Amino acid sequence: MAEGDMTVIQSCGDCGEELGTFDVKKDNMMLMTTEKIWCPTCKTDTKEVRDLAGRSASIEQEQGSYAANNAVDPETRR
Ligand SMILES: [Zn+2]
Repeated sequence: MAEGDMTVIQSCGDCGEELGTFDVKKDNMMLMTTEKIWCPTCKTDTKEVRDLAGRSASIEQEQGSYAANNAVDPETRR
C-alpha cells in the first residue's frame, strides 16, 4: 500500500458483515456512497457502508507527531 493511501472497508448496511476492502488515495477518499453491494449473508443487494481501516492506528500516529512538535527546539536551547 503506497504512502497516503487509505484502506476502506465495505460492509453490509443491514447485517454489518464485512464484504470487502479497497485502497484509495487519501485525496480521493469517498466514505459517503449510495452504492448497493451484494451481501451473501442477506442474499440481497444492500446499502453499502464504508469505514476506514486502521483508524485507531492513524490516531496514534497523529498523537505521536503532536508530541514531536512539542519537543525542545534546538534553536532556542542555547
Ligand atoms: Zn448483510
